[in-house]
Amino acid sequence: MTNEVDIGSITNDRKLELIPPSDPRVQCAIAPFNDDMLSEHHFKDRKELTDLMYETMKKYGGIGLTCNQVGLPFNYFCIGGHPQIESGLTIHCFNPIIVSSSDEEVLMTEGCLTFPFVFLPLKRPRKIVAKFEDENGDLQEANLDGMMSRAFQHEYDHILGRNFTEKASKLKLDRAFKKAAKQMEKYKKRIEANANT
Ligand SMILES: [Zn+2]
Repeated sequence: MTNEVDIGSITNDRKLELIPPSDPRVQCAIAPFNDDMLSEHHFKDRKELTDLMYETMKKYGGIGLTCNQVGLPFNYFCIGGHPQIESGLTIHCFNPIIVSSSDEEVLMTEGCLTFPFVFLPLKRPRKIVAKFEDENGDLQEANLDGMMSRAFQHEYDHILGRNFTEKASKLKLDRAFKKAAKQMEKYKKRIEANANT
């Protein structure tokens, strides 16, 4: 999930790239995670994966990133890492589940790293109770509210192979994609202008 666009730089040797929304890997639910899967993809432990995912999320200016968005088959996402949201709190969630959601729903505008420049106002439950394993493999239960609750719900949809575009009406979607195309044009022009100076 993203709430701003900020293209930074990445220092790690190994890089993860976002894959397009048409890629079947972003459209499929992810099987449960276990630590044996890490070595198949050349990660030595959870920490190496969580560090790289966090850096990738920051590089693209997101506040949430799920493994299938970068073509990895792990049932894991990270959320947070934004200085203005709960002082930069970051949560690493392996095998996450939503145990319960509040009846109260709130309207918030969401973005997604898989859909650059697309922003959609969506209603979702305000609070959730979530369970997941953390980067050490310890089981955690969290009561989430505000942006962290929103980000968790958005990323959890990715785990299920769903994208936030499925939650919007066709009218809202058309409008958001039109706006995004314009923003993308501006962004490309800016990049070109910078390259020529
Ligand atoms: Zn997303």
